[in-house]
Amino acid sequence: MGCRYRQVQRVHYPEIEPLPAAMQRRARRDVGVKQVFSRLAQEPKKRGRIPFTRIDLDNEADFAEFDTLEAIAAGATIITGAVFTGELEGVAWEVAADVLVRNPNGTYLPVMVSNHRVARPDPHRHMQAIAVSRLGKGTPLQVNASLRHHTIDGYRLTLALMGLAEAGVAPADEVGAVIGQDRDWAYLVDVSRYAPAATRALLTPAPTGPRRVKECATCRFWAKCEPELEAADDISLFLSGDRADTYRDKGIHTTQALIDASLGDISHTARAWRAGIPVLRKTVHTTAPRFDVEIDVDVEAYLDLGAYLWGAWDGHDYTPFVIWSDLGGAAEGENFARFWAWLKNRRNAARQRGQTFGVFCYASNGENHWMLSTARRFHGKVPGVPDEQEIRAFISSDQWNDMFAVARSQLVGPGGLGLKQLAPAAGFHWEEEDFAGEDSLHAFLIASTGGDAEAARAREQLLSYNGDDCRATAAVRHWLRRGAQSAPILGQLP
Ligand code: SF4
Repeated sequence: MGCRYRQVQRVHYPEIEPLPAAMQRRARRDVGVKQVFSRLAQEPKKRGRIPFTRIDLDNEADFAEFDTLEAIAAGATIITGAVFTGELEGVAWEVAADVLVRNPNGTYLPVMVSNHRVARPDPHRHMQAIAVSRLGKGTPLQVNASLRHHTIDGYRLTLALMGLAEAGVAPADEVGAVIGQDRDWAYLVDVSRYAPAATRALLTPAPTGPRRVKECATCRFWAKCEPELEAADDISLFLSGDRADTYRDKGIHTTQALIDASLGDISHTARAWRAGIPVLRKTVHTTAPRFDVEIDVDVEAYLDLGAYLWGAWDGHDYTPFVIWSDLGGAAEGENFARFWAWLKNRRNAARQRGQTFGVFCYASNGENHWMLSTARRFHGKVPGVPDEQEIRAFISSDQWNDMFAVARSQLVGPGGLGLKQLAPAAGFHWEEEDFAGEDSLHAFLIASTGGDAEAARAREQLLSYNGDDCRATAAVRHWLRRGAQSAPILGQLP
């Protein structure tokens, strides 16, 4: 449900328009919903042996809920764009259920489309899932995957089940489904696990003041909430979300109180934050791994659909391996194969010259995920794509270095140790200054679907951003080797 103070601010400031980032997020979700709708089974032209009907509703229409109830009463197999409203102990709620699928016993399975990654492959766990194209026609299969919890998806399903219950067609097993970034599968979810938290959240009175949370970064009301938080010296400005709960429980609600409490590193870090110091050293001497030949790499992916750009910086040249279409298809595997061959050539050349060779990235989760996923999806199908074993051997070798782990072992960042926080302290600045992770998602959408000029600009931006991420990783490494002198030592601030 996110920040509930938004509801309060919406009433106070109805004139404040949504920010471009929010509009872009909505646009990405709309694209996802459209993709799902296009994959759902269509109503057959001729009536088949087993009746199958599909009704597509407009969830923004004036009588959307009435239309939903009509479609249910008609016994439609698939209903898209459904809407339910209701009241729980005097609190009104509304939910858009992206898809309703009729179960054989006449109840309906609510299905939500989400831009989250809702499940991940896991050889040790089982889940029930159904191919999106088989919804309303097939039965679920057991797949090796584990669920990733996203509260908001669970809450939306809870409300949809409440709506279905009102209509008398809620499934007794309280099962719903979520379609995540992989638009081909709907994963079944036991919604009852979310129900207590969802009803609690619904019935909890709206907060009386703001608290900084992750969403504030893209919230239209930040210009109103920030001064309020600053005036109160609210501790959430330093420790966002529930990270300050331990201190709130001790009666510490302001950053100054946290500094004054002299609680060791956390109070020292709060003092640095107050002084606008972005990074501190935990050790007097800092260092970073060193090789004769060093390559910095960075991957860009679009949601869970695929990795479209592998960028590499060798200290002189930036080499991008990129595709702007056919993500998830053979082109993605071929692109990775080109990158992998290039990297191996560099490694072999270094070896022949008797030089040591190291590859760096910043926070390796993304790169590791996409290298492994590419191997799993394309090895044996696309020439040049290594198998999973080869990737695993590389990841666990000394040649693969995560600079985030190196930095974290020696530094503390009052505002975090992301590349965006750390590289400026190391003297590096991005050409595309105000371009963050979410912007790159939107830029890819334009780069892959926009008009010529628009797409060219977005491609240029993405290559610049990726190249600078590689160069920034190198800058952090060089700075650590020089001793990171511009970062004061933790606990030694005046
Ligand atoms: S700026 Fe933050 S606290 Fe204020 S309404 Fe938005 S999300 Fe909530």
